[in-house]
Amino acid sequence: MHKIEDYNTLPILNIANYLNLFINTSNKTTCFLHKEKNPSLSFNTALNYWHCFGCGAGGTVIDLVIKYKGYSFIQACQWLDKNFAKFNNNDIQNKNRNIENKFNTSIEKKIYTNTNKKIYKWIINNLKLSDEAFKYLNKQRKLKTNIIEQLKIADIKQTDTFFKKAIERWGIKKLVNAGLIKIDRDNDRKKLRFIWRDNVIIFPFYDEQEEIVYLQARRISNLQPKYINLYNVQPQLYNLNILNRLKAGDRLCICEGVIDAITLYQYNYNSIGVPGVFNFNKNWIEKFIKYQIYIVPDNDIAGINFADGMNKLFMENGKLITLIKLPISRKDANDYFAHFSN
Ligand SMILES: [Zn+2]
Repeated sequence: MHKIEDYNTLPILNIANYLNLFINTSNKTTCFLHKEKNPSLSFNTALNYWHCFGCGAGGTVIDLVIKYKGYSFIQACQWLDKNFAKFNNNDIQNKNRNIENKFNTSIEKKIYTNTNKKIYKWIINNLKLSDEAFKYLNKQRKLKTNIIEQLKIADIKQTDTFFKKAIERWGIKKLVNAGLIKIDRDNDRKKLRFIWRDNVIIFPFYDEQEEIVYLQARRISNLQPKYINLYNVQPQLYNLNILNRLKAGDRLCICEGVIDAITLYQYNYNSIGVPGVFNFNKNWIEKFIKYQIYIVPDNDIAGINFADGMNKLFMENGKLITLIKLPISRKDANDYFAHFSN
């Protein structure tokens, strides 16, 4: 049990978002206590309270939960405890430390070089999209043909042949630095291992200069892991070049995976994919501060952690974001839209 002040200093807009209240850009929503056309329930973010100019209801964070959920005072505190415990207890410091540690180790990872960019570009230019891979993207994941072409998605069928060709062109050392070859030591004998060994779809990641700075692979078979990242190379943001087309105040969706980002993008939602909250470089936050940020997490435990982590990172930078909750029956943004396009 925490002090009442602890609950009432939780950011009220985030609590309201969490309760699925749709809040407009002037921090108003239609009152949930009565029917109305125009929003008269207003949130004061500076003083952290809410007030409805229609019916006069209002109050603190706890009052909002009591009224919205029909809870008693104790139940409202318990609900806040359950859902927002990490804002108040000591875990917050431990969690910070964990993020810090992950961040430090990722700095040690090789930062991509100009040679890497040339290699990634060469790979994409030397690949095509097979019928099988197209079928997976188009029929199963419902991605549109023009989007698949525009994003230069390709696949590799004969990985051994492809790597042989790549070694001839670039040499082993450069491919190791680019995270495409792993060297395993087996009784003092070096063994080269290609990171892709069966049919994989390759997604190129473009940066704001429209250069390819990362590649992520998705296996077509059901073998695990489904997604293969480059070895020892800092993962990047997917679809980052979209920022070139946005202006301050525009909406930007942030989701967990490449395919979700593409799905939102093809339905005209500006979106980028992040490589998981632990691979999220804190310096990236400043790229997003000027947009209206919507987090679209997957409907699973990892998604909840992702949303919490992103929410916290943005809040530490004084930025309020909106969490989008998909219907419980849909597992992610791709599943949500694929369902409607059937
Ligand atoms: Zn009201």
